[in-house]
Amino acid sequence: DSAAPERHDVTPVIGLEIHVQLLTETKIFCGCPNRFNPDEPNTQTCPVCLGFPGALPVMNRTAIEWTVKLGLALGCEIAPRAVFARKNYFYPDLPKGYQISQFEIPVVQGGSIPIVSPTRGEIVVRLTRAHLEEDAGKSLHEDFHGMTGIDLNRAGTPLLEIVTEPDLRSSDEAVAYAKALHGIVRWIGICDGNMQEGSFRCDANVSVRRPGEPLGTRCEIKNLNSFRFMQEAIEFELRRQVALIEDGGKVVQETRL
Ligand code: ADP
Ligand code: MG
Ligand code: ZN
Repeated sequence: DSAAPERHDVTPVIGLEIHVQLLTETKIFCGCPNRFNPDEPNTQTCPVCLGFPGALPVMNRTAIEWTVKLGLALGCEIAPRAVFARKNYFYPDLPKGYQISQFEIPVVQGGSIPIVSPTRGEIVVRLTRAHLEEDAGKSLHEDFHGMTGIDLNRAGTPLLEIVTEPDLRSSDEAVAYAKALHGIVRWIGICDGNMQEGSFRCDANVSVRRPGEPLGTRCEIKNLNSFRFMQEAIEFELRRQVALIEDGGKVVQETRL
């Protein structure tokens, strides 16, 4: 049936948001040590990273310097003035009810990373922005019966969120980009790149597009913590969306775990 659209008529469209934990000695807004420490919960905390009323955050100079360093490495525009904002949401691992992040003026914008695509050769992946924010705490579901524990050692870890334009066209390209960025942040010495410990975490935004049509509706897959999982999750999501569309359905914008 020549009227029916064929499978290969659709192009995958992928944009990545990668969270990089900066390896500074102290947290982003207080003097607490910034070390991965899952063994003794809530020992690396203070009124600032616990978000007590009246606590005053003080910017970690190194976190800004390292963000600028990455911006210079990737050809980004460095903002002479950046602004932090409170992003209000409630989640158990964020008991203070807001995350300090950047919205209107991030430290760096633009820039790009060249990668080699197995199908398209050398391509340039454009970066939208990289903004600084604080990491949240962690929920512990296994240690307590019928209850969830909260460990706030991670709260206030400096996080750099690096966002790409939707320039990637396959899971292979997404992985190639993530590996390139992973190499760069370790090379310039701002992140240890330990994906198992969560130092480098990827969210993938995935959609499919028919030729000549505008971008399709995307789904976001959160917290991919290995390159293999990233590849498999994107492949799975592309197959799911293509099957849905071939069945006459519509992709609904959502976050998928
Ligand atoms: P939000 O603020 O909801 O996270 P953004 O506009 O910041 O939305 O986009 C987040 C990510 O989604 C970016 O990496 C962007 O490239 C990607 N993206 C946007 N639209 C699409 C789309 N139609 N398909 C795939 N990825 C997309
Ligand atoms: Mg986003
Ligand atoms: Zn603290």
